[in-house]
Amino acid sequence: MAGKQDSYEVIIIGGGLSGLAAAVYLGRGKKRVLLIEQSHSLGGRASTKQQDGFALNLGPHALYRSGPGIDILSEIGLEIRGNVPNTAGGFVVNNGVKHTLPAGFVSLLSTSLFGVSAKVETAKLLASLAKIDSSTINSLTVREWVDARLSNKPVRDLLLALFRLTSYANAPELMSAGAAVEQLQKALAKNVVYLDLGWQTLVDGLRDAAIKEGVEIRTAVKAESVEIGSTGEVTGVRLADNRLLTASAILMASSPGVAAALVKNTAVEEYARYAAPIEAACLDLALSRLPDPRASFALGIDQPYYFSVHSAAARLAPDGRALIHIAKYLAPDDAGSAQGVEHELESFADLIQPGWRKEIVIRRFLPRMVVSNAVPMANRGGLQGRPKPVVSEIPGLYLAGDWVGDEGQLADASLASAKKAAEAILSAPLRSSESRVGAASGSPQFQ
Ligand SMILES: Cc1cc2nc3c(=O)[nH]c(=O)nc-3n(C[C@H](O)[C@H](O)[C@H](O)COP(=O)(O)OP(=O)(O)OC[C@H]3O[C@@H](n4cnc5c(N)ncnc54)[C@H](O)[C@@H]3O)c2cc1C
Repeated sequence: MAGKQDSYEVIIIGGGLSGLAAAVYLGRGKKRVLLIEQSHSLGGRASTKQQDGFALNLGPHALYRSGPGIDILSEIGLEIRGNVPNTAGGFVVNNGVKHTLPAGFVSLLSTSLFGVSAKVETAKLLASLAKIDSSTINSLTVREWVDARLSNKPVRDLLLALFRLTSYANAPELMSAGAAVEQLQKALAKNVVYLDLGWQTLVDGLRDAAIKEGVEIRTAVKAESVEIGSTGEVTGVRLADNRLLTASAILMASSPGVAAALVKNTAVEEYARYAAPIEAACLDLALSRLPDPRASFALGIDQPYYFSVHSAAARLAPDGRALIHIAKYLAPDDAGSAQGVEHELESFADLIQPGWRKEIVIRRFLPRMVVSNAVPMANRGGLQGRPKPVVSEIPGLYLAGDWVGDEGQLADASLASAKKAAEAILSAPLRSSESRVGAASGSPQFQ
């Protein structure tokens, strides 16, 4: 039987960025809130490992300066410390050869990546990108749009590489062109910021803010199911140890798969069946020194590789040392062996920073990370096709995460959906069951 101490107005399942941000807003709205996280520590995919003076995010993490997330974090009161990476002097790599990254007009003129006609087409593309109304191409795939718009193959390949860089998705046949263009426009408008001491600073800042607002946080507590009352509304959360916690609102701030397993027979279950995650293999390297201090950024053109010295922009390594993130953007059908991919990433590092192997302090290979839970798909109309933060079929049930809502991608989507879900909970009319929260333990369902 659930005791009074196990009754809340809102229970949040998941202690990543989305669950924590929602917790702050709900705490500020004077709700009695419990956040549960199955791991021993908070942060989910935004966690940072601190070791030997290095701060290792889980793969490359960059916060978009023109996305909704940074505004939400500021509104909550977090100070964003870090710097914009400098890609001037960066490389693109095609067929194993390094060329100047044609990120602007000067580098475009000097790059050996392609000839005159491709340069002219790239110049036109760069000049027009900011003006494209991305909402008109939501239902086209990236491949359809790129093929129809660009005649030079090298320019098409460059644009696909820039889409991978900004959205992490290597799924041109699935991804909405509107979503890809919108994300690239954000990067071109204001770039990104690498955070001093890693993304854990966001996690810790959100946790502190939530606790200050009176939110109760319990780690190493796993939700097993969301309990639904006889009239179809949420009534509580059953934990893995079979205990029951009651609440009149439940926010699932986890993945589509977990959400679908927690509550059966909803549209979320259907969504979880077709959602394709965006995945990456990551090689994180902490080095005693950078063999070539000038080579801080590289992007694969014919191969979906990423290389960036994050410590060149942010405080992530002790003085004189370096922290590098290398990644392969995995295609949905990528069946390559983990060992093979690791070797590919090492070879890419050899090309950009020969001699790195002699400088290793920490080396971590993450073969398959879920960067985002769902590619915004063209056949679902892009971001518009993602589930809404309010689950309309079940009163009291809400969602947040990087696969929820029609705003932003990656962490931006997590934070934007978290804020929307919290606002919806705060403005929801009191349900008759709500007045019983705290006394719900008398209900037979909670025995
Ligand atoms: C390699 C990599 C690179 C990335 N780069 C960027 C980037 O450059 N820019 C950017 O904006 N974003 C980036 N991201 C994405 C960003 O990290 C995520 O979008 C964001 O951290 C997701 O937060 P979340 O709270 O929505 O989900 P998560 O972080 O996944 O949190 C969900 C939490 O729910 C918990 N949970 C699940 N099931 C249960 C249960 N049954 N009971 C209790 N708890 C449960 C999990 O343990 C987890 O802690 C990257 C991610 C990766 C992996």
